[in-house]
Amino acid sequence: MSAPELLSCDVAVLGSGPGGYAAAFRAADLGLSVVMIDRNPTLGGVCLNVGCIPSKALLHVASVMEQAAALAGHGVAFDPPRVDLGKLRAHKDAVVGKLTTGLASMARGRQVRTVQGMGQFHDANHLDVSLASGGTQRIRFAHAIIAAGSEAIRLPFMPDDPRIVDSTGALELRNIPKRMLVIGGGIIGLEMATVYSALGSSIDIVEALDGLMTEADRDQVKIWEKKNAPRFNRVLLSTKVVAAEALTDGIRVTFDGASAPSPDIYDMVLVAVGRAPNGQRISADKAGLAVDARGFIKTDTQMRTNIENIFAIGDIAGAPMLAHKASHEGHVAAEAAAGKPSHFDVSQIPSVAYTDPEIAWTGKTEAELKREGTVYRKAVFPWAASGRAIANGRDEGMTKLLIDETTHRVIGGGIVGQHAGDLIGEIGLAIEMGADAADLALTIHPHPTLSETVSMAAQVLEGVCTDLPRKRS
Ligand code: NAD
Repeated sequence: MSAPELLSCDVAVLGSGPGGYAAAFRAADLGLSVVMIDRNPTLGGVCLNVGCIPSKALLHVASVMEQAAALAGHGVAFDPPRVDLGKLRAHKDAVVGKLTTGLASMARGRQVRTVQGMGQFHDANHLDVSLASGGTQRIRFAHAIIAAGSEAIRLPFMPDDPRIVDSTGALELRNIPKRMLVIGGGIIGLEMATVYSALGSSIDIVEALDGLMTEADRDQVKIWEKKNAPRFNRVLLSTKVVAAEALTDGIRVTFDGASAPSPDIYDMVLVAVGRAPNGQRISADKAGLAVDARGFIKTDTQMRTNIENIFAIGDIAGAPMLAHKASHEGHVAAEAAAGKPSHFDVSQIPSVAYTDPEIAWTGKTEAELKREGTVYRKAVFPWAASGRAIANGRDEGMTKLLIDETTHRVIGGGIVGQHAGDLIGEIGLAIEMGADAADLALTIHPHPTLSETVSMAAQVLEGVCTDLPRKRS
């Protein structure tokens, strides 16, 4: 066999998701020569191709369909929608295509070389890529940034059947199942349940824990649950799926738990029970990299692994597995590789469930503050008092601020309601800037908007809110 071809660079980036491309482009912008490796034919990783972006394209359609139907209550009625699944799929694919081709062109514009294939370490200065086109490409690097992401966790007892899907399969939108089971009441499960229920599926959700979206505070989830109660056929909490059998008329699923129902048959089963990092798939040992049993790679605040010239970012570097955390880490790693004194040093990472209503939270949650024993004050502005939310016909939401009792600074916050994900950034900025409630209360917000609920929550804390009934003394 002939020796593999050699490609040399200052920085090799393994993976082209939001972490990988941010790292590669930042490194190139700093004047370093960069090679970015991805096994997929299009750049963008899970997020752009089979995650955040296609799911948002479908969630947008689901939301508009439901908003249109809700107008019947305001005197404007439409005929029931006719769904052309092929066209809807093509729309989602076009959204993804626009972004992934944009990425490829930005890579070319920065002279970032891309290699398609499965990359594995040969040693601490070389990667071997099994090329999609056949053969092996060896890459010699001064620095490597591992951004190889994560994969959906499988349930070992699930039979191999096209009716059993993970999030990637669900996003393919092959058909609209009559009866669908969603295993896992986390963000992926509930976002996909929102899409399929809008398209007409009858949905059961099964969650092993005693609540849905357990990372969010319960007061937020409660609002979501109330609004979504009619959406689902059954929500089975403290219940596990323990067996499944592929029959001709569906997937027969067996449940376990104190109030587990008898076995049932579904046309589609979505397994959304979490994701596992890809740390065990990159021959990390050959570079001397320490990978833990779960597949995570530990780093310092510069995203540097135990090997001086190798960095790890994104899902593979630890929770939370979120695109925006990965991109931020990507910049830090690229800058550190270029010799800059950059560190990952943040006070908040926002989380958003793009469900309906959306649930967003950032900084500390109340559950965390209680666990840590931090003394805090909480203020809630209910959207039932927001002129804009009422005008929108969607006043079920709320905006919450959490303040450190000692420093008076904003240390956390949560928003439930339409566009909560777009609104949470302001609370993030307040936390990062060390703002206190007065800063938010005294900032003039446009009226009537949902954004002013942040300011009004701060006014509640300051005792100066005039948009709520006077507090009884
Ligand atoms: P998750 O860990 O958030 O939720 C999975 C849920 O499945 C958990 O609540 C768990 O208790 C439950 N579960 C596990 N085994 C089960 C079983 N056998 N039966 C019933 N329930 C079971 O995972 P996810 O929703 O798959 O998401 C994976 C990752 O991707 C998360 O880190 C998530 O934050 C991230 N993500 C984020 C977004 C977003 O930010 N909008 C969207 C999608 C995914």
